[in-house]
Amino acid sequence: MIKQTFAVIGLGRFGSSVCQTLINAGAEVLVIDKDEARINAFKDIATQAIIADAQDESTLKSIGIRNFDHVVIAIGEDIQASILVTLMVKELGVKYITAKAQNEYHARVLVKLGADKVVHPERDMGTRIGKNLLSRNMLDYLDLSSDIKVAEIKITKNSFVGASLASLEFRKKYALNVIAIRHDKKIDISPAPSDALILGDSLLVVGYQKDVDYFNSLMDQ
Ligand code: ATP
Repeated sequence: MIKQTFAVIGLGRFGSSVCQTLINAGAEVLVIDKDEARINAFKDIATQAIIADAQDESTLKSIGIRNFDHVVIAIGEDIQASILVTLMVKELGVKYITAKAQNEYHARVLVKLGADKVVHPERDMGTRIGKNLLSRNMLDYLDLSSDIKVAEIKITKNSFVGASLASLEFRKKYALNVIAIRHDKKIDISPAPSDALILGDSLLVVGYQKDVDYFNSLMDQ
């Protein structure tokens, strides 16, 4: 497999975490930040670590940013810098750009400029935690798209205990696909239709938001 090359611009909490994950996975990662202390934290572990203002187009050109497979623009607070850097990186011909947005307007501009993926880590994590706070049985929650969700929901109803996914006609009745069942610390990632559910098991399901919400509301009753 050909190794992908990444450049991460901005080493705040988000950029650093993305970077560390890529490095741990053995990827080649170039990091850029204008703050020397932040670069120092990565200079021994990243493939290349550069102290520079990424708004300087000549710097981006001289490091050959266009040759990277994937550029992550993780500048958050300075929206003007984030926009300008996205514009320049796009114009220089980078194949795939992921950019972090501070808010919806910022996200719209980044999409217009050609960012391939726009992420909102604070908003998404807030939604995830909020869902978890709202329902004691919704253990985790993830957006796949605006209306398709993945959720982990705890089985609390006696009527489900001892029943199997097949006998419950789970997919037909609840319009959800069960992708895993968690029983204590053990996670079964290929649940059989005949597996009986136990009180306290949780189901990892994927489906439309309304169906996820309906099934969760049954467990909350
Ligand atoms: P997080 O929430 O991930 O901590 P943030 O949204 O607070 O990040 P910032 O602190 O604004 O984002 O920026 C993240 C990093 O990007 C900082 O380390 C900052 O030094 C760096 N940065 C900001 N602007 C530039 C720039 N023009 N060139 C290079 N690095 C930059």
